[in-house]
This record gives sequence, structure tokens and C-alpha cells, in this order.
Amino acid sequence: MPYTVPKLTDYSEAALEKAASECIEACTAESAVVRNDADLKSFRDRWMARKNGILTQINDLWLKGAPKAAKREAGIRVNELKARVTAIVEGARVTAASTDSLAAERVDITLPGVRRAIGAEHPIVKTSHEIVSVFQKLGYSVAAGPVVETDYYNFEALNFPPNHPARDTQDTLFIAGQQEKPQRERLLLRTHTSPVQIRTMEKMPPPIRIVIPGTVHRNDPPDASHSPMFNQIEGLAVDTNITFGDLKGTLDHAMKALFGSSVKTHFRPSFFPFTEPSAELYVTCFICGGSGKRGPDNAPCRPCKQTGWIEVLGCGMVDPNVFEFVKENGYDPKKVSGFAFGMGVDRLALLKYGVDDLQYFFQGDVRFLQQFG
Ligand SMILES: [Zn+2]
Repeated sequence: MPYTVPKLTDYSEAALEKAASECIEACTAESAVVRNDADLKSFRDRWMARKNGILTQINDLWLKGAPKAAKREAGIRVNELKARVTAIVEGARVTAASTDSLAAERVDITLPGVRRAIGAEHPIVKTSHEIVSVFQKLGYSVAAGPVVETDYYNFEALNFPPNHPARDTQDTLFIAGQQEKPQRERLLLRTHTSPVQIRTMEKMPPPIRIVIPGTVHRNDPPDASHSPMFNQIEGLAVDTNITFGDLKGTLDHAMKALFGSSVKTHFRPSFFPFTEPSAELYVTCFICGGSGKRGPDNAPCRPCKQTGWIEVLGCGMVDPNVFEFVKENGYDPKKVSGFAFGMGVDRLALLKYGVDDLQYFFQGDVRFLQQFG
């Protein structure tokens, strides 16, 4: 039975005492079962509401109905009672609130934890690490540089003539609003990792051996074999008496380390502004073994276009004109020589994993990427 305010007929001290303690007992009992904010609100309303709350009823029933002689004593009693009930109701708010937050914060330590999938290297990162580690074992160190470059480092210091087609917006992504600046200071997204060669030679005197992995950008619409962003690894070795023989020996070793000891290498003349002479390096197709045919029914090998050879990188002896830009730091083209090479990591990953569309690498689809984890 919920508590209701009784009518008082007896205003003796003992009767007032009994009525007051019954009221406090009831209030205490109700405060103990307040479990949430809704309970708390109805509890407070029931006891404290101005209009017809229990305290108001006590005021009406006990004080106004009291005989004149007992009024003073009853007034003191009722005021004490109101103070105690108010304290209980206020206290209930605190108790209810802390019970709620404790319940919300409680942790069931017996529940099994949330398992996070262990990540794996992205196939391009993995390929890049493999290539870098081959050169690290040969004593090369890893260098890095900014992706947003100046025209000077990306083109001028690498011996690109002023009208070279690579300087056109057809091929290069320039940062907007640079027209005020002199050409060599204009910013662009680097189109190759080669600017890091110049930056490193500015900082370190010869001899140096570095590999430079990194992302580069070109104005190429995305398709199965192109992307506006892709990954390169370049290498540079400069010392006294470095010859084309060193270049061939180093790259031949690297290709065997990467693709297996049975691959053969083959250099064809080419042209790059920053190397002279320049060459493209081909390896025997590691899918068909160089025969141009695959499988028992001699199907044509697509990756090498049935030639048995796959182009893997561009390379050459560093053009003496490039050394002129860092001559002050010990790179006198009459005293030092060197070779450089650069390869597209994404394309090698495509060939290595037999993937037929470059875009799969960049779409972030876990179902695709899981296959390489
Ligand atoms: Zn092949």
C-alpha cells in the first residue's frame, strides 16, 4: 500500500511523533527503489509537488486542521518533517544518478574481447620493401623527399630542357596560382622520385649509394595500366670510376634476387634527360620463362606479349650536366661518375601477382587485398 497522508485527530506529542516517523519511513522506503530518471521524477513529484504533493497535503491536513492550542507545536513538527523529507528526496536524486552511471560504466570482464583483424602489408608496399631490401643488402641507404616539389628540383636540375614535353600540363600536375613566381620556384606534384637524387647530393658529398622509394603524380586518367598517383623506386650510386659495367652488374644481381636466379637481363638503348648513355632493362619473362608461351596448350603469354622479355626499369650513367648543379658539394663531373635507375613499383606488383588491372590496388577493397595478406 503506498503511503497516504492520514487525517490527524490526536495532536498529542506522541501522536505527532508517530505520524511523522511513519511519513519519514515511507519516504525513505520509496527513495530506495528509485532506479532511473523517470522513477526519480515521479518520486519527487509525489512528495514535493506544490499542488497536492505529500508535503502540501501534510501542510493542509495537519496544520490547518490543528486546534488553536496545538498549532504552535504542530507547526514546529511539520517544519522538521518537511526538512527531513526534502533531504531524503534530494538525496535520492544523487543516489539514483550515481547508480545509473555506475551501471552504465560496469564492465563485464567475462565477456570475450573484440578481436581486431591483424593487418598485412599492401601488395605494393610489400613489393616496394622487397626491392628496397635487395639494395640495402648491397650497402644502399634509403632517402626520401617532398611530394610537392619545385620546378627546379623536378626538372631544371635534372637537365630537362625548357621546352621538354614533360613540363607541359598535359603530363604534369602543377599547383594553381604560381604564375607570379619565377619558373624554377613554381610548385608541382613531383613526376618522379629523381628530385631526391639532387636533394641528397646537395646534402652529402660523394661517394653515395641510395634508393628512393616514394609516390609520384602524373596527369594520367586512371585505367588498367595507368593511375594519376603511382609508386617508384629510384637508385643512385656515385663514386670515382663508376662504369656502365657496375650498373649492369648491380642490376643483374638485383633482378636475380627479385625474380629468381634463372632470369636473364638484357639492356636496350634509350633516352632520359638526366642520364647519358641511357638504357631500358629487360628481364626474361618470369611467367613463361622467356618462351612466350604458357601452359600445356602453349597459350600465348600476355604479360610479355609473347616476346619472352619484360621491361622492368630505366637506367643510365648520370649525365655530367646533372653533376654541374651540385659541383660545389664535391660532384665534379671530371672526377666522379655514377649511375641511376628507376622503376615503377605498381607495374612490377601487377606482373608479380598476375593482377590484370592496376586500379584494384587503389580501391581499398579488403576482399581483393586479403589475397596477399
Ligand atoms: Zn611471358
